[in-house]
Amino acid sequence: MTDNQKPVLRFAPSPTGMLHIGGARTALFNWLYARHTGGKFLLRIEDTDRERSTPEAVAAIIEGLKWLELDWDGDITYQASRAGRHREIAEKLLAEGKAYRCFATPAELDEMRAAQRAAGKPIRYDGRWRDRDPSEAPAGAPSVIRLRAPQTGETIIHDVVQGDVRYANEQLDDMILLRSDGTPTYMLAVVVDDHDMGVTHIIRGDDHLNNAARQMQLIRTLGWPEVIYGHVPLIHGPDGAKLSKRHGAQAVGEYRDMGYLPETMRNYLLRLGWSHGNDETIPTPQAVEWFNLESIGKSPARLDFKKLDNLNAHYIRAMADDALADEVAHLLGRETPPRTLSVSARKRLIAAMPTLKERAKTLLELAAAAEFLFTDGPRSLDDAAAKVLSDDARRNLGEFLTTIADIDWTGHALEEKARAFADAKGLKLGQVAQPLRAALTGRTTSPPIFAMLEVLGREESIKRLTAHVL
Ligand code: GLU
Repeated sequence: MTDNQKPVLRFAPSPTGMLHIGGARTALFNWLYARHTGGKFLLRIEDTDRERSTPEAVAAIIEGLKWLELDWDGDITYQASRAGRHREIAEKLLAEGKAYRCFATPAELDEMRAAQRAAGKPIRYDGRWRDRDPSEAPAGAPSVIRLRAPQTGETIIHDVVQGDVRYANEQLDDMILLRSDGTPTYMLAVVVDDHDMGVTHIIRGDDHLNNAARQMQLIRTLGWPEVIYGHVPLIHGPDGAKLSKRHGAQAVGEYRDMGYLPETMRNYLLRLGWSHGNDETIPTPQAVEWFNLESIGKSPARLDFKKLDNLNAHYIRAMADDALADEVAHLLGRETPPRTLSVSARKRLIAAMPTLKERAKTLLELAAAAEFLFTDGPRSLDDAAAKVLSDDARRNLGEFLTTIADIDWTGHALEEKARAFADAKGLKLGQVAQPLRAALTGRTTSPPIFAMLEVLGREESIKRLTAHVL
């Protein structure tokens, strides 16, 4: 990479399932570095494994990235469509003597491995066709193309996260580039695509570190510019064990459905493996400004759902009321059966939002707390609310209603009236407020009730309260 060349990064998922948080973090780090440096962030779908790749997975990955607002530059590259180019490079290497044809049959290779195993030796291709003349192979016998890899010396990866990682070349066998059916292997496809896409930096999970050594051998054999690698430790569960289903949600879509905001997820995923002092709350624009490769952590980050909730509460509070109402509407629309927000419900929701958003850790929580705003007319009571609305309470409610019939309908004025009423009756404020809450919402918990009376408005409130008066 020359000094004036901007970094080119990529996210290269295999479309075999949902976009997982590990993959999302990889995408985020690459995206952040591209945006930080003014470089490019490309998307390549590695769909060479035709059996395991599905269109649904491609769609899920794209949807996940879009939801996370990790926009890529240019068109998506589909690896499978580039098989011809991969083949071309394998054949070029063959013509130059940098690769060779191997005619070993599967049975022969099985035998070779069994012998290695029996002798307690490492299992690797023994190079039996490396120096043999292809004319020795039976006519028409199928063959693969293997890289003529260096057999001595070391391949060193100067990894920006892991430091120098050394591989003795004698431990890396001559990998297959092209299979006997003419399809390229993953190793070949990745290297050729990264080169053709102009990729300069590769940040990915450290499960690919061993691949990096082989990929580097291939890059060097081809005489192509070397990429800069950064292999990030995988994410672990809260207990420190490798991430698995029992740790909870892994797909980005599940977090969306639980009511986490994209901004929350970006901040959270950033902190799973990257740090800036003790800062926890790092909004995306700040992350773009600060992100660097040096501060990627060397040890695995652990999921911390409490931190996730705290961040989400923060970003919910910071969000505009009408935008939050849109999010809630989206969420309701995804329910089965889908619910829609009426115009009046949306208005009430926005009016109540300053109160609601102070309390919610997720959009689901927010929607649940706001549920009484979505319906019109009297509420049916849950058990606890029914208990609160004793005969006495209902009679008091009726009396109280007469005192507020034509006051200025503000939370403040209503609360004053409730206090005066409670005083006059020798009751505590709660003994007035709690039945009000039960009748108005059908529940015993809600956002501050006088503010909610104001949000619901005079007419709707009176309708709801009257229905429960004795
Ligand atoms: N397709 C690979 C994966 O999904 C990533 C390859 C790479 O980043 O080099 O694990």
